[in-house]
Amino acid sequence: MGAETTKHGPLHIMFFPFMGHGHMIPMVDMAKLFASKGVKTTILTTPLNAPFILKAIEKSKTLSNINIQTIKFPSVEAGLPDGCENFDSIPSPEFIPVFFNSTELLKEGFEQQLSLLHPDCVVSDMFFTWTTDSSAKFDIPRIVFHGISLFSMCASICMAIYKPYENVSSDSESFVVPNLPGEIKMTRIQVMDYFKIAEWVERMKKIGESEQKSYGVLVNSFYELERDYADYYRKVFGKRAWQIGPLSLCNNDKEEKIYRGKESSIDEHEWRKWLDTKEANSVVYVSFGSIVKFSDSQLREIAIGLEASGQQFIWVVKKSKKDGEEWLPEGFEKRIEGKGLIIRGWAPQVSILEHEAIGAFMTHCGWNSTLEGVSAGIPFITWPVSAEQFYNEKLVVDVLKIGIPVGVKKWCLFTEIDNSIKWDAVEKTVRKIFAKDEEAEERRKKAKELSRLARKAVEERGTSDLELDAFTAELGSLRG
Ligand code: UDP
Repeated sequence: MGAETTKHGPLHIMFFPFMGHGHMIPMVDMAKLFASKGVKTTILTTPLNAPFILKAIEKSKTLSNINIQTIKFPSVEAGLPDGCENFDSIPSPEFIPVFFNSTELLKEGFEQQLSLLHPDCVVSDMFFTWTTDSSAKFDIPRIVFHGISLFSMCASICMAIYKPYENVSSDSESFVVPNLPGEIKMTRIQVMDYFKIAEWVERMKKIGESEQKSYGVLVNSFYELERDYADYYRKVFGKRAWQIGPLSLCNNDKEEKIYRGKESSIDEHEWRKWLDTKEANSVVYVSFGSIVKFSDSQLREIAIGLEASGQQFIWVVKKSKKDGEEWLPEGFEKRIEGKGLIIRGWAPQVSILEHEAIGAFMTHCGWNSTLEGVSAGIPFITWPVSAEQFYNEKLVVDVLKIGIPVGVKKWCLFTEIDNSIKWDAVEKTVRKIFAKDEEAEERRKKAKELSRLARKAVEERGTSDLELDAFTAELGSLRG
C-alpha cells in the first residue's frame, strides 16, 4: 500500500536521529522505508554526520523522496573538542555527559527547520526530549524512537517502578523483574548504573516525561519476536507503539547493505572471497558494535579463546594498525591465516551476517546487532556490556532461546569496560554454539524460524508492513 496523499500532497515526516551510529543507522533505514511507501522524508542532522547519511541513502531507489537538512552543532561552545559531533568521536569518559547535554543546543536550529518545512510529524530520538515541546509549538506530533526493543522498554519501566534490586542482600543474588511476563531473572550488578547516577536518573525521568507527552513510539522490532511484551507495553502501560522492523531488511540490494553507518574498512571482494571458500554455518562472526572498545588484555583473551576453539572466525576489532598491535598474541595472525579474518575498523555487518558461511554471532547485544542476527537466522553468543544490552541478553537467551551467554556479570559504562572474560569462556561458548548435539540444533532451528518470521513481517501485509500502513494512515487522518 502507498502512503496517504491528501489535497496537501504526500505526507512529510522529519527524522531526527541522535548522533551515534547505533541510533543513526536504524533511523536512516526508517526514513528509507517510509520513502519507499511514497512518504516525503527529511533527515535532520549536523554537518559532520551528513556524509554518513548521504552515503547510506545514495544507493537507495527512494533517494528522490529523502532530503537531508543540516543544523549547526556548536561543539566547542558546548565544551566538546572541535569536530566532535558523533558519540563515537568522544575522546574520553568525562565528555559523555557534556555530549548529551550539548544536544540541547540543537533546539534553535530544529525549530527553524520546523517553521520552514512544517512536516506532518517528527520522529526524534529519545534523547532529544525537548523536541516534544518544540514540535507542539508548531502543532506537529512528535513520535519517539528509542532504538531498543519493547522487551527492554517494559523491563526498564518495571525496574524503575519496583526497584527490585533494592531488596536483595548482595550483588550476585538474583531477583525476578516484578510484573514482567516470563519470570526474567537478573542481578543487581547487571542493572544499569543509570539508576545510581543522579544525572542519569534525571535524564531518564525527562525521557519518560517527554514520551508521555508524545504521540507514540516507533519501534525497530516485529510483533512475532516479542508478542508478550508488545501486548504488555500497550495494555498495561497504555502506550501507543508501532512495530515496523526489522528496519535493516529495507536494504534490498548488495550495495545498500554494505553502505550502512561508516565506510567499510575492508573491500567487499576480500571478505566475500574469504567467506565463499568456507562451508555453510562454519564461521563465527565476532563484533561488538560501534562504541565498545575493549582493553588490549581483553582483546588478547578473545584472540586466545578463538584460536583455542578451533572454529573459523571473522573478528571486527576497533583498532587500526596505527594504534599498535600489543593486543595481538605473538604470531597470532600467521597461525590463524586462512582460519580467521580480522577486520580492523568497520565491517559491512549486515552483508557478512547474511552470508551462508556464518554460523554464529558473538555480540555485545546492541539492539541493532541483535535484530540483524535474528534476521540472519543464526544463534548468538551474548556478551553484553552497557546500555540495555543485559536485557537483550535475557531476551535472546531466556525468552527466544537462541543464544548462550559468555558469562559477563557486570553492567558498565562504555568507557570503563569490565575486562573479566577469560579465554577459556570464549573457547567453551564457541564450541558449545557450534556443537552437533540436540540443544545446539534446537537453537539453530529456532533462530532459522525467527528469521523466517522477521522476513515475513516486513513483506507486503506482514505485521510490520501493516503497522507501517496503519501509522501513515493515521498521520494522514490528522490532516483533517
Ligand atoms: N555496525 C557495522 N559495522 C561495524 C560495527 C557496527 O555495520 O563494524 C553496525 C551494526 O550493523 C549495527 C550498528 O552498527 O547496525 C551498531 O548498533 P548496535 O545497536 O548493535 O550497537 P551500538 O553500536 O549502538 O553499541
